[in-house]
Amino acid sequence: ALEEKSHQTVLNIYMNRMVYNLNYFRSKLNGGTRIMAMVKAFSYGSGTYEIANLLQFHKVDYLGVAYTDEGVALRKAGISLPILVLNAEPSSFHDLVEYNLEPEVYSFHQLEMLENALKNYNLSEAFKVHLKVETGMHRLGFVEDQLKDLAEKLKSHRHIKVASVFSHLAASDDPEQRDFTLGQVAKLKQMTDKLKSDLGYSFLRHISNSSGISQYPEAHFDMVRLGVGLYGIGSNVEDKKHLNVVSDLMASVSQVKQLKVGDSVGYGRTFVAEKPTTIAVVSIGYADGFRRSLSNGVGEVVISGKRYQVVGRVCMDMVMVDVTGSDVAEGDEVEVFGPTISVYELAQKMDTIPYEVLTGISSRVKRVYF
Ligand code: PLP
Repeated sequence: ALEEKSHQTVLNIYMNRMVYNLNYFRSKLNGGTRIMAMVKAFSYGSGTYEIANLLQFHKVDYLGVAYTDEGVALRKAGISLPILVLNAEPSSFHDLVEYNLEPEVYSFHQLEMLENALKNYNLSEAFKVHLKVETGMHRLGFVEDQLKDLAEKLKSHRHIKVASVFSHLAASDDPEQRDFTLGQVAKLKQMTDKLKSDLGYSFLRHISNSSGISQYPEAHFDMVRLGVGLYGIGSNVEDKKHLNVVSDLMASVSQVKQLKVGDSVGYGRTFVAEKPTTIAVVSIGYADGFRRSLSNGVGEVVISGKRYQVVGRVCMDMVMVDVTGSDVAEGDEVEVFGPTISVYELAQKMDTIPYEVLTGISSRVKRVYF
């Protein structure tokens, strides 16, 4: 009914699909390989706590977040799994200790600051860190020449213990770059073998993201970092066939309106009716993540199983679509992505990747869990 929907714009998240996706990736791993589920960026837009709670119930081994605040929020919500923080700001070191969060360490500067900060705590055990090493992404990480020094420093830093050493694949989704990816895998092995012998103790090793899991068994090591695949996005034919996108983005029709010849629609009057036209005003705009680049016929939405094109410019909170000849009515449900328009298709129309579509759904869009 009209009242029930009350023009809400909602991301519906289906938890059973996520469990299915998790199990799909589990079936690709040896029993001993751990899974770190990436729940950074609001769990790729799906809501951090709810997803983390589900993943904890289904016994993933680690969670990964980008910033300390994200880890703190999970702890405050009662999540007890180990949590890796990829980009721990130096000002957040106190929270790392207080909330038992494990930072990525990628530079000597960071290592020294952390060791100094840890001297102020009376910790019963050494503090766990995860070393990032450079194998080809050229983003964060220690390079090979630094490893000897690194091991020396770590041996003198009694407050710090290396829980894992890891790297990140730059092109695991591209079969044409297979040799490069295998080179990264070999490099991680070589660098970690050296660190292990210099440090005198072992640690977990990991490099694979979602797309590497089915394509590169040799990249599994002790743990994989599963991100976008958990949310149902595949980057190869096999994964795409099996995975289920976990969410549908739905809006509703706020008003239906008749245009006469010559009437224009929206800002800048970029659409002018050349014939009598019926438009529906839909409750989603660029402030929700429905990009302005979808204006003027680029974007489409689905109402009662049929596609309708965007007319005029996408506004902040609304968009208008051409529903001429239909029986679309105020209050009707509108699919932005879901069973008919896939996230892949929407991403293509927005000239981006599904990651950006999902993480770009803004916080004011209500998340509903099923
Ligand atoms: N590991 C790191 C360091 C990342 O930055 C990311 C995501 O960007 C992932 C793992 C997960 O990657 P994906 O979502 O492709 O599985």
